[in-house]
Amino acid sequence: MNNIAYYNGTYAPLEELTIPALDRAVYFGDGVYEAAYFRNGRPFALDDHLKRFKNSLGFVKIAYPTESEEELEKILRGLCDKIGGEGIVYWQTSRATAPRNHAFPENAKSNLLAWAKHKPLGDFTAPIKLMTMDDIRYKMCNVKTLNLMPNIMASQAAKESGCDEAVFVRDGLVTEGSHSNIHIIKDKKIITHENGSLILPGTVRSHLLRVAEKLGIAYEERPFAPEEMYTADEVLVTSATTFFRHACELNGRAVGMRDNETYMQLVGEYMQWMERETE
Ligand code: PLP
Repeated sequence: MNNIAYYNGTYAPLEELTIPALDRAVYFGDGVYEAAYFRNGRPFALDDHLKRFKNSLGFVKIAYPTESEEELEKILRGLCDKIGGEGIVYWQTSRATAPRNHAFPENAKSNLLAWAKHKPLGDFTAPIKLMTMDDIRYKMCNVKTLNLMPNIMASQAAKESGCDEAVFVRDGLVTEGSHSNIHIIKDKKIITHENGSLILPGTVRSHLLRVAEKLGIAYEERPFAPEEMYTADEVLVTSATTFFRHACELNGRAVGMRDNETYMQLVGEYMQWMERETE
């Protein structure tokens, strides 16, 4: 079995699962989501994802999709366990199934769509190429909502330019990637945009800082300009499905790749932690 999906109590292969046309995710992207990595059929850092999921729901006033938080956790763990091995578990909750109308329906009962699929992590340390894009998103980027149009457009533009990820720039400062957080290392110090309404509080971003603390590597939480990326020793790109990648190119110009020692130290510590948790 390569994947398994779930919708409000029904299980099916992902390709066969159907959802009602009146699910508000269809019309408005009126929902929030999460994606986590699993290994040996066991999700990594699930608590961090569940905490952010609950925060996202709270921001947009969507009801928790299961009677208890334990019930959701059980469903997610069950999906990972059914697939086994290595992969991604994804879940989203939309506000309700109701006739199309912008305002919330009365007595909204939220929906839960979830799936797990086999997907090996592979060698994520291979250098990647980046390009900058105007950050045209709204100021609710801390909420992991289904509304991803600017992210999709940026991701496609990066792909068409032969790049692996787009780096959003707002008012001359780097915010984050289209589906990742962006950090730099300069003189053995990590610099990363502070959490707030302009970026998603990445789970791996927080793990990066935790690992850095453990290794005695300094960090500073502040925005930086794209120009600082050109003079950085390393440019890091983090996300739950690709962990810590590093970049070799930004807008066709060479960047980073000058402090492999620190990069590999961070990667090594992180992998040990992840492997311990998913043993
Ligand atoms: N920023 C955006 C816009 C994202 O979509 C993601 C992940 O999908 C991230 C940052 C990284 O978050 P995480 O490390 O929790 O995957």
